[in-house]
Amino acid sequence: MATSPALDPFLRPLRFAARNDFANLGVLKDLEGTLGRLLARADGEGCPPQILIDLRALLAGLDDLDRGEKRARVTAMIRIAEGGAEPTLETPSDGTRGPREKPRPSAPPPSRPPPADVSPTPPAPDEAGPNPKRPLPVARSLFRAAPKVTPSTSGKRQPMHEAEPATSLAKLVGVGPKTAERLAAKGIETVQDALFHLPMRYEDRSQLTSIADLRPGDRAHVQGVVAASALRAGRKRMWEVAVRDGTGVLSCRFFRFRRQDMESRLAVGTRVRLFGAVTFFGAQKQMAHPDVEVVRGEDETAGGDVRPVYPDVEGVPSTTLRKILQNLAQVLAAKVWDPMPESWRETFHLAPLAPAVHAAHLPTDVDAAALHALRRRLAFDELFYLQLALGLARGDREAQPGLAQNVDSGWRELAERALPFSPTRAQSRVLDEIAEDLAAAVPMSRMVQGDVGSGKTAVALLAAGLVAQAAGRQSCLLAPTEILAEQHARSAHDVFAKLGLQTALLTGSTPSRARAALVRACRRGDVSLVVGTHALLEPDVQFKELGLVIIDEQHRFGVEQRARLLAKREDVPPDVLVMTATPIPRTLTLSLYGDLRLSVIDELPPGRTPTETRVYPARQAGKVHAEARRALRAGRQVYIVFPLVEASDQLELKAASEAVEELREVFSAHPVELLHGKMRPDEKNEVMRRFARGEVGVLVATTVIEVGVDVPNATVMIIEEADRFGLSQLHQLRGRVGRGTHPGLCLLVAGKGAGAEASERLSVMAETTDGFLIAERDLQIRGPGEVLGTRQSGLPDLFVADLVADGQLLEEARGAVEALLESDPQLISPDHASLRSELERRFAGKLERLRAG
Ligand code: ADP
Ligand code: MG
Repeated sequence: MATSPALDPFLRPLRFAARNDFANLGVLKDLEGTLGRLLARADGEGCPPQILIDLRALLAGLDDLDRGEKRARVTAMIRIAEGGAEPTLETPSDGTRGPREKPRPSAPPPSRPPPADVSPTPPAPDEAGPNPKRPLPVARSLFRAAPKVTPSTSGKRQPMHEAEPATSLAKLVGVGPKTAERLAAKGIETVQDALFHLPMRYEDRSQLTSIADLRPGDRAHVQGVVAASALRAGRKRMWEVAVRDGTGVLSCRFFRFRRQDMESRLAVGTRVRLFGAVTFFGAQKQMAHPDVEVVRGEDETAGGDVRPVYPDVEGVPSTTLRKILQNLAQVLAAKVWDPMPESWRETFHLAPLAPAVHAAHLPTDVDAAALHALRRRLAFDELFYLQLALGLARGDREAQPGLAQNVDSGWRELAERALPFSPTRAQSRVLDEIAEDLAAAVPMSRMVQGDVGSGKTAVALLAAGLVAQAAGRQSCLLAPTEILAEQHARSAHDVFAKLGLQTALLTGSTPSRARAALVRACRRGDVSLVVGTHALLEPDVQFKELGLVIIDEQHRFGVEQRARLLAKREDVPPDVLVMTATPIPRTLTLSLYGDLRLSVIDELPPGRTPTETRVYPARQAGKVHAEARRALRAGRQVYIVFPLVEASDQLELKAASEAVEELREVFSAHPVELLHGKMRPDEKNEVMRRFARGEVGVLVATTVIEVGVDVPNATVMIIEEADRFGLSQLHQLRGRVGRGTHPGLCLLVAGKGAGAEASERLSVMAETTDGFLIAERDLQIRGPGEVLGTRQSGLPDLFVADLVADGQLLEEARGAVEALLESDPQLISPDHASLRSELERRFAGKLERLRAG
């Protein structure tokens, strides 16, 4: 019986074709034409238009299809024309196992309203919560170092309920060997790993949309029956599945597929639920790569309404992954071990692990909150153990005997008087903190942060001066570039000479004879402070009595270099002071340098006028150059910075040289020179020296000038393609101007391709000169890795915690660690045994390195 009597003539040839297992299929010629004419007639006789549309879609190209596909189409057309009645034919894909359907209402099942307090995404985080929107990669936290049972050591597979957290997935019944392999490739090897492979979001599938109601751009959930399923050859190979729900047809397109999967899973007649984004192609409604779920029998709510969506694991279909993870959670979440004592969980409002894991995979109505609680818990744990590791490392270092370098106030006054200015209050305070560390008989490890131009160098030099005066010991100061080392050496010389002490400079370009003399003087103890570059690290550079190691712009150096300097004294560790170039966001400071004590110079020397900063689009070069000319005419000097990648690229260098030629024309009345990283050190120094003496008006440079160059008469800084720099780097570059009595001007020129977003980012520079604020913004915009730069490796592996969003949580974790170490500095109390063993699991092998650093 046809849906519409008008379709009876249309059905006749189809039924004929399908008879006896499609024996007549080959007999009928021009089936497409015949059926097309019959359809046109049905149209005239009042057949519902939607059905006609569906049938025409199935009819298109019918004669060109191969036999199997033709069968599929014919079957689908019969079914549609018959109105979804019990199929009279078997599905063609395998001839025997076609899903048999009950008669289906012609409208989709009524959509249920969502439960009152369910929401597809977790609620907004509270102040302390981790960011719930961030996708969670595999959180391999607990048991990471536990032995993993591999399938080779035991042949028999275990039922899930017998598994332990450390059991290998490959050993489990219900996880196929191929799937286990693919999961392992993603780092998901054990039950524990799997349980912590957390959903990145949830989808509310309680609402079904009928195809007729789909709107372009919707992410919708549709239920229907596969009406056609076929390979489409064309410009792009794709598999197309037409799904029909009685209100319309939806074309689902798959561009990556395995033909067999498609044929078996999405055979014509299969009832499916589709979830995906809707697009329109003319009047045709489409979904590309929807999430497909086969609905069996009457189970219309299979899988629940709030559904976890996991980060993809290549080669494992999302439904398979979901099923495995949900089964594991169902059976094994209760076995997740929680090392955190209950009293602690209460204190810090931490969710117990087991129920939280369960809820994350098997969300019910209220579980968005549970997932949030789990994320918070896991993020807390990560931050807590990281802080604990760093705290213990600091404790261990401070448990060693160190140098007691007692600095009395008389020395201090004398040293301060040697400076060409009086220290700011902040500089004095930081020097107090340093003096206290120096005096204590434990090794000092302190980091000084301060905004660009806050006077970190002066503080470091005073510290070295005090060590020399009070204890007769030597210091070394490591700087990342020759220009900077020379500059520090000059300042050091001025200060130390007034104190009657000797300083020296050692760089790669120190002539060998001078170097030999210097090394001898250093060994004799005649030199109180040696300032230098990497050349300092050479093993023959030794001291009579090293008291203090200072590292400037420490992000330019690795742990190894610090260790090499420290090794220059063997009996006791010397005191260590490190300085950063620009402020680092607090979360990063705590995560990376939690083993150091922190001093902050939060004040600039008096009399500085903040550098005015403006952002220009690329095409306004004329205006920018006019500003520069004005400054040059007034006797000032100008920096123009190009973002060359270390000037390693010959092409870029060529571009820079050409730019210089152009600029020589633009500023014809003033000498223009180029400074780049590929120049020989002596060439570089020569250019720099001439600039410092005022003989060069415009210095065209790569970022080699980024580091602390100090030429007070230079007042204008032009930064080309400024959007290619990070904010902190721009801030540091900008710090090169406005250092003297004349106010500075910084002109940021956006690159040609820079969009609105880039300009907005740059506008932060115009709004504030506070380096701490800029660092925070930089972190928010670019993330921790970028802010620190590629040279700065060693960022901890954080899988859940987010150093941008979890600042508050980090403070809590740090507070917890401080309280813990206060009561049990070495974490040896039996009460803390579980924390200790969890710490060791997480940092297996890494704790030693932290301590060595
Ligand atoms: P940074 O912290 O960026 O390394 P520097 O140590 O290079 O800054 O100092 C920046 C400039 O400020 C230098 O020219 C330095 O001589 C000057 N300076 C430092 N401290 C003071 C102070 N207390 N009073 C006046 N000028 C100072
Ligand atoms: Mg500096």
